[in-house]
Amino acid sequence: MRRFSRAVITLALLPMALLYQSCAKEDVVYRKTPIPSLEREITDVRVLVVENAGEIEISSEYVIAGGVGAGSNLGGYGGSGILKARGSGGQVCLEDKGKQVLRSHRVMLKPRGGGYIEINGTGYRGRILLTAEGGSGISAVNYIGIDDYLRGVLPSEIGYLKGRCTAAYRAQALASRSYALSKLHETRRRYFDLRATIMDQVYRGVSGEYPPATRAVNDTRGKVITWKGRPARTYYSSCCGGHTADIRSNWPWKKPFHFLRGVRDSGAGKTSSFCRGSRHFRWRVRWSGDRLAEILRRTLPDLCEDDVKPFQRILDIRQGEHSRDGRIKSLTFITDSGSYMVRGDRIRWVLRPESASGPILKSTLLKLEIVKKNGAVRELNVLGGGNGHGVGLCQSGAIEMSREGYSAEEIVKHYYPGVNINRYY
Ligand SMILES: [Zn+2]
Repeated sequence: MRRFSRAVITLALLPMALLYQSCAKEDVVYRKTPIPSLEREITDVRVLVVENAGEIEISSEYVIAGGVGAGSNLGGYGGSGILKARGSGGQVCLEDKGKQVLRSHRVMLKPRGGGYIEINGTGYRGRILLTAEGGSGISAVNYIGIDDYLRGVLPSEIGYLKGRCTAAYRAQALASRSYALSKLHETRRRYFDLRATIMDQVYRGVSGEYPPATRAVNDTRGKVITWKGRPARTYYSSCCGGHTADIRSNWPWKKPFHFLRGVRDSGAGKTSSFCRGSRHFRWRVRWSGDRLAEILRRTLPDLCEDDVKPFQRILDIRQGEHSRDGRIKSLTFITDSGSYMVRGDRIRWVLRPESASGPILKSTLLKLEIVKKNGAVRELNVLGGGNGHGVGLCQSGAIEMSREGYSAEEIVKHYYPGVNINRYY
């Protein structure tokens, strides 16, 4: 305790510029502390909420959990102002009101009095781990009970629904919980389990909560969709366009679970699709030959398995076969420097409607019309269906099923045939 106090007093006398410098040079307050084992409950998940930022602002009442980062020295140290955190040389540097209070490998913050911690203006339940081990900047990982996590996921993923939406929210809660738990088995050695983005599930902490969704999380507490006794990798997407995707056609490089082989999105004996009311059910997009060549010059080199040489013109486009789910399996772009094939879901990342940084193509449920002139593609018209990868539960369809009176269990078993729903905790 004495050593820590002296460091703070010394730092208080230093101008801000020097503080920054001392952080980078690893001198003034550096103390070797053991990296604690960050034990967690079985139903806790670790969500990466900030990745490699230059600085993180903590603006709520917090306590630095005892025994973490600063060993016993900072156990119980707390504050209510704005705490700033930066990463430097694999260490977390913390400043409280302009004074550097800690430099350590990892720092665990918990809210004072059962509230929540605000990170860059967003409130999170549970605890926050600050770490610099993910790269040159600083990252924040939310250690949170899975049901509290789901409260901040559901509305961002399926929307702020009104009307008869209880079954849709419950089905989404089951799918999101099972997906998250299925990831825990493969990420034990990483410092987080899930990203808070579309890479896993969009999670916006307390600001993303909505009472009807919270009720569905509580109603389904502990219930998990299982496949062969384990939490199932329950992918889902916005709108399937009338038939969910077979994982083998979309992601031939992923494990082809049998419950993800694609289903017609309609009721027994009916032809109209549950998701027909979605604005994404059918859509069109068009490129001129020049525009297409411009986009492909940027996107193809990263996504094509072959070595892409510089090209000027697209001479033709060959479509691979369609799979049973209606998705196109591959596209081959024949250019003046060679032919380049793109498979599965990667087609969406190559054929961007706007630019290389804009949104990707909505789906691979496509019909192509190629207009050629003078031995080159003059125009490409695409009629498409659905939005998203299409594997697993179709959210637009689930919402319609809910409105038509289907239960959450019926929705889950429609989109993931052969699964069970079990109580897991
Ligand atoms: Zn659908």
